[in-house]
Amino acid sequence: EPVLEVTGLGLTIGGARILAGVDLRVERGELIGVIGPNGAGKTTLFNLVSGIYRATSGRVLLAGRDVTAASVAVRARAGLGRTFQTSSLFPRLSVAENVRLATQRRLGGSLSVLSFPRRGDAASAEAAEHLATVGLTHRADAAAGDLSHGDKRKLEIAVLLAMDSSVVLLDEPMAGVATGDVAGLVEVIRSISASGRTVLMVEHHMDVVLGLADRVAVLHHGELLTCDVPERVMADETVQSAYLGTTAGSAA
Ligand code: ADP
Ligand code: MG
Ligand code: MG
Repeated sequence: EPVLEVTGLGLTIGGARILAGVDLRVERGELIGVIGPNGAGKTTLFNLVSGIYRATSGRVLLAGRDVTAASVAVRARAGLGRTFQTSSLFPRLSVAENVRLATQRRLGGSLSVLSFPRRGDAASAEAAEHLATVGLTHRADAAAGDLSHGDKRKLEIAVLLAMDSSVVLLDEPMAGVATGDVAGLVEVIRSISASGRTVLMVEHHMDVVLGLADRVAVLHHGELLTCDVPERVMADETVQSAYLGTTAGSAA
């Protein structure tokens, strides 16, 4: 059974067709690169899968369960986690506090001054593990807002680990990341994939996509052109004329 299945997924807003009948089956542990020109509908697909937008057609199944009408919170509890093109961290809180808060959200605690996680509690021990996984132990006490772009992306991934997300949607994780930090972030994504999590990653850096993805989904004008192994996608003439041809320089 696929861990994520979308069938006929569509979104039309005010007569404008933004996503048109996307069909996609993702098996547990797969890493899917999602590519396509600006405005193709990549972020919209993530918004529909995570429940930020409600689909106007089609269905979303998580591990066989129909969540098409479910809220963002319900989908998150069912294991769906995502990052955004812009950061959703608490910039004034420390790196460790950001992760502890996510653990606590998962454990069901509401946020309050009284329940705010502290050093030494269970959430804190677990947070330390997730920070180690993403290589941020040495920055645990830094304010999240002071991190480099690359370290912010790593912290966002640690937050998803703390929420115990089994399906992780990463929207342009390399955007704004300094060249020297790309390789480290690639390794973090590779390791959360190797841990058995399912990853869908919108990314424009083709070398990153080709280095990580089991399959590549290509969106164009709201339609899914193909989702196939990287070699076949790169060789696909429809894909080349729709997308790769326009970025020949960076696709090398
Ligand atoms: P991508 O992430 O592939 O660059 P998006 O999914 O963000 O593209 O957007 C796809 C298209 O849908 C764009 O033309 C965008 O302007 C439009 N769009 C996305 N969300 C909305 C919305 N809430 N209202 C109107 N148009 C939207
Ligand atoms: Mg986008
Ligand atoms: Mg994998």
